[in-house]
Amino acid sequence: MIAPEVDPDDPKPARDWQEALGEAGVTERAALPVSPALRKPPVAARPAGNGNLYEARASVHNKRIDGPFRRFKWLVMFVTLTIYYVTPWIRWDRGPYAPDQAVLINLANRRFYMFDIEIWPHEFYFVAGMLIMAGIGLFLVTSAVGRAWCGYACPQTVWTDLFQHIDRFIDGDRNARARLDKAPWSPAKFARRLGKWTIYLIISLLTGGAWILYFADAPTLFADFFALNADPLAYMTVAILTGTTFWLGGFMREQVCIYMCPWPRIQGAMIDENSLIVTYKDWRGEQRGSLKKALKEPEKYGDCIDCRECVAVCPTGIDIREGQQIGCITCALCIDACDRVMQDIGRPRGLIDYATLDQCEAEAGGAEATPAWMALLRPRTFIYFGIWGAIGLAMLFALGTRSHTDLTVSPDRNPPYMLMKDGSVRNAYTLRLRNMEARPRDMEVALIGLPDGAVMWTDRIGSDAAAAVQTIKVPADETRVVRTYVTIPAGTSADRFTFQLTSLDEQREQDLAETTFNTPGGN
Ligand code: SF4
Ligand code: SF4
Repeated sequence: MIAPEVDPDDPKPARDWQEALGEAGVTERAALPVSPALRKPPVAARPAGNGNLYEARASVHNKRIDGPFRRFKWLVMFVTLTIYYVTPWIRWDRGPYAPDQAVLINLANRRFYMFDIEIWPHEFYFVAGMLIMAGIGLFLVTSAVGRAWCGYACPQTVWTDLFQHIDRFIDGDRNARARLDKAPWSPAKFARRLGKWTIYLIISLLTGGAWILYFADAPTLFADFFALNADPLAYMTVAILTGTTFWLGGFMREQVCIYMCPWPRIQGAMIDENSLIVTYKDWRGEQRGSLKKALKEPEKYGDCIDCRECVAVCPTGIDIREGQQIGCITCALCIDACDRVMQDIGRPRGLIDYATLDQCEAEAGGAEATPAWMALLRPRTFIYFGIWGAIGLAMLFALGTRSHTDLTVSPDRNPPYMLMKDGSVRNAYTLRLRNMEARPRDMEVALIGLPDGAVMWTDRIGSDAAAAVQTIKVPADETRVVRTYVTIPAGTSADRFTFQLTSLDEQREQDLAETTFNTPGGN
């Protein structure tokens, strides 16, 4: 659905219904008689578009509105932007051997830090689990409250909303902005545009700049960035993110949601007749007509006084009265606008409201309106919530019980063994001892399953100190690679055996790695 053309010279879109109340001689709220047109059967959606394959984009100059949903949008914007810009600056003490940034994606050392959680590359399943939870979380939200993600928390929505407030701050509200848009270029218009785009650019720069701070120590990178000492990749990333924020949030706006984003299409397939959507109750609003006409012939007209306030406040410029559209991000600002109008003309709120298609059908048939939250209580929502919660609990359990010690062993393949002149047989191995704690630890490596007299030594522990058990120091938060040699005495044989790793601290964490011992006569 293409956004409808907004003509600032057309008195209809800019018309204030309160003015109409005055013209009609209605001075008090609740002065309009309740329309007998209430509970009319639903009407079919009007045909949209002009039949052309392409329609030029009309700028959207949405009007300022206040109301519960607008205030909720303010809150979400404040919380999400604060989290995004502030998080890299939060410090978190992990001791002297680990970074003190609360949230850090350390690509060089292949670590992800999030407060007390540290994810190593071999634990990528935690990241996969978080991505699965995010995906199921989106399904859950969509199933419960439709496109609430799009309407409130999607970055495109948040930044577009922010830029629309800047437009309003610099150029004025809807009509002033539309007039300025149509006005020829003049020094005043140029100065306004320059000021506005400069603010866009500063916000975009902050957005791109904040992103790179998640990948390195924020204060250090911040200083290096302005001293021109940062990695070229940092400058490239900031340039790309600044450009995309400036362009997508400042100019593309609702076109990203309507034409570029795949999510509305996916959500369209996921929404069913029990999902909450923002909907215009046409059986109650139609036939729409001006307030004057409604006052003259109340039996003929419904509750919609065609004031177009719902269209004027819409950030994507659509008319929800035309039915469900891909451009509707369910931000509910049209509910705020219409509720104000209904309050002023003395009609019940909710001509536009959150409701499910099933609830709408029942209401159109004369049933009492059901509270919107009832739509949350249904099997599909519970199943998504159950799966989401189960994955979350499993991940918490795995995080809480995971070992901070790990051992992997790779035997040498060539040569598989060496026959020593005293008849003993020697095999070589590469051991990887992982210490996932933010402190150095002594670790004991023992041989299990080899004949008596089997010993080992390493590149650093010479063969004169060979023993069945060795102690190796592993630096904090590191994997130590150790070349290890194992010998069994002459006249003995061996096949499978195990390296046992034990941390020599109060935790006594253990890990076992089974491997093969090659001998001349055997394997
Ligand atoms: S739906 Fe409400 S806000 Fe929209 S035109 Fe009708 S009365 Fe006005
Ligand atoms: S139609 Fe209403 S809910 Fe949909 S995007 Fe516009 S203002 Fe938001």
